[in-house]
Amino acid sequence: SSSGANDFISDIIRADNEQGTYSGRVQTRFPPEPNGQLHIGHAKAITVDFDSAQNYDGICNLRFDDTNPDTEETEFVDAIIADLRWLGFEPANVFYASDYFEQLYEWAEYLIGKGLAYVDEQDGETISAQRGGYGKPGIDSPFRDRPIEENLDQFRRMRAGEYADGSRVLRAKIDMNDENMQLRDPVLYRIRRGHHHRTHDAWVIYPTYDWAHGQSDAIEGVTHSLCTLEFVSHRPLYDWCLEQLPLPYEKPKQIEFARLELTHTVTSKRRLAKLVTEGILDGWDDPRMPTLAGLRKRGYPASAIVAFCRDMGVSKTNARHAIEELESYVRRDLNKIAQRRMAVLHPIKLTITNWPAGQVDYFDVMNNPENADDGTRKVAFTGELYIEAEDFAEVPPPKFYRLSIGREVRLRGAYFVTATDVVTDDQGNVVEVLATYDPASQGGNSPDGRKVKSTIHWVSRPHAVEASVALYDRLFTTANPGEATGEPLDDLNPASRVLLNGCQVEAALTETAPGEVVQFERLGYFAADPDRPMHFHRTVGLRDEWAA
Ligand code: ATP
Ligand code: MG
Ligand code: MG
Repeated sequence: SSSGANDFISDIIRADNEQGTYSGRVQTRFPPEPNGQLHIGHAKAITVDFDSAQNYDGICNLRFDDTNPDTEETEFVDAIIADLRWLGFEPANVFYASDYFEQLYEWAEYLIGKGLAYVDEQDGETISAQRGGYGKPGIDSPFRDRPIEENLDQFRRMRAGEYADGSRVLRAKIDMNDENMQLRDPVLYRIRRGHHHRTHDAWVIYPTYDWAHGQSDAIEGVTHSLCTLEFVSHRPLYDWCLEQLPLPYEKPKQIEFARLELTHTVTSKRRLAKLVTEGILDGWDDPRMPTLAGLRKRGYPASAIVAFCRDMGVSKTNARHAIEELESYVRRDLNKIAQRRMAVLHPIKLTITNWPAGQVDYFDVMNNPENADDGTRKVAFTGELYIEAEDFAEVPPPKFYRLSIGREVRLRGAYFVTATDVVTDDQGNVVEVLATYDPASQGGNSPDGRKVKSTIHWVSRPHAVEASVALYDRLFTTANPGEATGEPLDDLNPASRVLLNGCQVEAALTETAPGEVVQFERLGYFAADPDRPMHFHRTVGLRDEWAA
């Protein structure tokens, strides 16, 4: 199911269809630059781009906006394709802006021929200083009125590699006094000798975003070119470029919507790249990253990400959504699909002193009470157990209802036990709790109807398997990272990950598939690491511990 039929983008598409603007055709594209991996913000753009087409029987293509040789890598192309598929979207075609370099070049010559572009020999700083500012007129470049023939010759020599990087640019000749700075003779081509991931060293001049984007849309037959709000000021330039060219058909139209931002998160590829290249995180797929690869490793289902993006709708004003809201979608989906298991993260021993020597009980435990089809499994119980250290208190504080000396609790699905004594180490730390059990409470119910105030989880020591776990906290301590200093990385949480070794978990967890998410009872959802056996990443807790 896809939503979005009631948003302003759909209104425009419907109106175009009614008026026959594009003969009823709807075509969109998702245009990432392959200079990093996709993040949660891109998931938003993907749902908007694909849904807007598919809701009207149209198609959506993937187009790599690969016009900058310095930052783009084939490795990112592959990762983007894989992430898009994982999210559940199949592009009708995969295109590359770099495939249009020759056409874009010819169109640039055409523009020069119309007297609408010139080669400027000033440096970048001078050009931007001359651009002026709002309410401040621009200054014409001394090269602005170069004859057409000279511009053509200069541009051809730029292409031929006769000039150094940065020594010349091609600029559109529009209006140095326009209120919109984008129209003050924008740069269309620059000289760059970087190695391009697809065209290799065939080119030394590269088109800018503004010269490449609308024309790429036009070449492909895009009808509605959806992008984020920072491109509003580029729209007149998008239209201007297309108007100058001899296009035989209806021009695509650019429509802007708000970026998706989340609290405690940054979605700038440049900043995410910094976390990777500076080794602050383990890579693009570190489970703390808001990248799709990171979220996947963390255990976020693609279905939850897509449902969240859809339900947030499309808007014309930027807003930051609470990350807790995304987490509630994750929890909702995982509750339906995750198998329940018992795992003890901070183990201490619990020994039942009246347990018959050598006895092993096997309890049938439901794999998922939300889904009877998942069946049951046998869990071994003995008189030698592990429980969570924090489920026992030698001196129980007020309102502590779990295990303490003389207090009876339920061991989940097994028996009632009453703590009788402790064993301490040299420093006085409790290393073992001694208890008695009531054989009549087998299965976790007492025949005389007596009540206990709490139920705790456990694993049988002889049957337990060791595991390691990564617990995660917010990557940024502040809701709006960088609010105070302007630099989001100043607000990095130094304790965003806690690694636990020596966890003791039930044996069934050895059968968890790589990447599978399970629920550790009472503790949250945990994703099995895709590569490292018996290592689990906490996806999210069972309830919103951040609320209130
Ligand atoms: P960055 O500025 O971090 O490099 P970008 O916008 O340049 O990000 P692109 O690869 O160019 O990244 O983005 C591809 C598409 O995804 C664009 O249409 C862009 O508008 C959209 N997009 C990027 N970030 C977001 C976001 N946070 N919310 C919604 N759409 C986004
Ligand atoms: Mg970018
Ligand atoms: Mg971009």
